[in-house]
Amino acid sequence: MSITSAAPALPVEPAPAPAPAAAAGSLLDTRFAKHFVLVCGLVPALLLAIDAKSGSLGVNDVNFAIRSTGMLGLVFLTLTLCITPLRRLTGWTWLIGVRRNIGVYGCLYIAAHFAIFFWFDRDASVGSTLSEIVERVYLWFGTASLVLMIPLALTSTDGMVSRLGKRWKLLHRLTYVAVVCGVIHFYLLVKADTTRPLVFGVLFGGLMLYRLVRGYLDLRAELAQTKEKLAAARKQGARGAKKKKFWSGELRVARIFDETADVKTFRMVNPDGGPLPFEHTAGQYLNISLPIDGKRVGRSYTIASSPTRTAYVEISVKRDGLFSKHLHANIHEGDTVKVGAPAGKFFFAGHEAERVILVAGGVGITPMMAVIRSLTDRCWRGEMYLLFAVRTRADVIFAAELAALQARFANLHVAITLTGDASGSADWTGARGRISKELIQKFIPDLGAPGPVMMCGPEKMMQATRALFVELGVPDARVLEEAFVSPAAAAAGSSGPDPLVMMVEPGAGEAAAGEPATVTFRKASKSAEAPSDQTLLEVAEDCGVEIPFECRSGICGQCKTKLVSGRVTMDVQDALTGADRAKGLVLACQARAATNVVIDA
Ligand SMILES: Cc1cc2nc3c(=O)[nH]c(=O)nc-3n(C[C@H](O)[C@H](O)[C@H](O)COP(=O)(O)OP(=O)(O)OC[C@H]3O[C@@H](n4cnc5c(N)ncnc54)[C@H](O)[C@@H]3O)c2cc1C
Repeated sequence: MSITSAAPALPVEPAPAPAPAAAAGSLLDTRFAKHFVLVCGLVPALLLAIDAKSGSLGVNDVNFAIRSTGMLGLVFLTLTLCITPLRRLTGWTWLIGVRRNIGVYGCLYIAAHFAIFFWFDRDASVGSTLSEIVERVYLWFGTASLVLMIPLALTSTDGMVSRLGKRWKLLHRLTYVAVVCGVIHFYLLVKADTTRPLVFGVLFGGLMLYRLVRGYLDLRAELAQTKEKLAAARKQGARGAKKKKFWSGELRVARIFDETADVKTFRMVNPDGGPLPFEHTAGQYLNISLPIDGKRVGRSYTIASSPTRTAYVEISVKRDGLFSKHLHANIHEGDTVKVGAPAGKFFFAGHEAERVILVAGGVGITPMMAVIRSLTDRCWRGEMYLLFAVRTRADVIFAAELAALQARFANLHVAITLTGDASGSADWTGARGRISKELIQKFIPDLGAPGPVMMCGPEKMMQATRALFVELGVPDARVLEEAFVSPAAAAAGSSGPDPLVMMVEPGAGEAAAGEPATVTFRKASKSAEAPSDQTLLEVAEDCGVEIPFECRSGICGQCKTKLVSGRVTMDVQDALTGADRAKGLVLACQARAATNVVIDA
């Protein structure tokens, strides 16, 4: 019996915008089909029980019951083997949802077949049953089939599916052996009219042939894909230096879209009309800076558009505090903004694994959307699972687009759960409540399968969800997080000097008049000239000193370095808290030497 805990496509319930009903439809199909199978599977058992009670099973009633249950078991088991080919031929994903029920019925009928034989034919005598089995060859095969089904039945629960991971699939290949044994058992038993066992045999042969052909075609496609990937990786490697290059300059806001009541999308283009002046990988972010009340303020925003769309970048911004409110209220189509990109190590390009699990909370959907847009644009063949938690139905950002993509791409699975109270979303038929272990298990099959779990959302949600995944057996290292930290919030409450000039005394000396200053990297024991147009990070890179960095815009704080002596100036220092400044930390990506300086790098 092949029982798969395949994830039903949970519905993406769109906000008011019209969206394809396919997702919700597929859930309804699955639910209906499951109930239908449950009822249909019970009917023969009920009829048999009624006939047995009224004595209508004929003279040889025990034999009739044994044969009927055996035949039913074989029918149900054969049906489970037909599910995968049928699904692939028809594209009906809901079929996967009923396979387990069919398989379990197969097991139950075979168990009943044996129980009737043991109880009524052998008078519940273990000795007589065993000697009969030893004596009759057809019973060897029947017993083998029965024994093979025990591990299959024991491992048919959701828990076992995720615990065994890939081994589960391997184990459940035993269904084929069980069915072969069942067919031989039937064939040897009937002696005279072998038509029915032969029909099963032919059907089984056809299924095996299908598997062989399909396996061969899949292998060929996989080989072609691997070749393609290698070629792409080689190409990417050749372009690596260019791709990673951090660009900063101006982009023009071409369009602004309202996504929800408090989220707007800003589409930005190259002011010259050409392609974007930088490349990024799905999940990375950009930095924007704007003059607000006479001060330049910077913030990071995930690039929500796909890297395949080289004519524009989009960011989707939730109205929150200083910067986002300013963006929503004061930035209009046609305005230009200062941007630096790309930055960030939270990304998924598709070649890393065959599956990606995306977990988003609220506006944390943006990196997930970038990944989904990019992978669907490229017709990626792996599986995408998006688990999206939002407060109310009206807060579902990108609802219509997700529904449309889900309708087109069978490998995109979306589950949305509403965490707010039901008042605003009474007609919601999807999941409710916070992301739970049950929801994860129901939605994502085989949690042991390789591939990252990418999470972005409120910190508490990410902590709790990480713990659930780890509890379900996903290695902690496979769970990646992106935190939408605001520099203003991070610095809140801290105090300290607030200079754009950082100075630590005693100074390392003024540079000679007209000469560039010198920077000394204390740990690396290296010194270099530091021209006034170069940041300390750029000088370090030129002379091979490693300083970690990410956004290169003074926002993320990755390049914080201690200024041992001397004076530097910094255009932006958002990532420095008062405590950092009091300790003499500077941002290497922003700091320019105003005197000879020594830094702790
Ligand atoms: C890598 C990265 C990617 C991001 N991507 C996105 C994205 O795609 N979309 C998006 O909307 N956002 C994103 N963000 C968040 C974004 O950068 C901003 O942090 C966010 O827009 C809030 O900035 P703000 O200036 O509007 O609010 P801020 O003024 O910075 O305030 C942020 C929050 O802190 C609170 N706060 C501010 N000052 C204080 C204080 N002194 N004391 C107590 N609380 C305070 C505010 O009430 C507010 O709730 C991302 C962040 C990072 C780091």
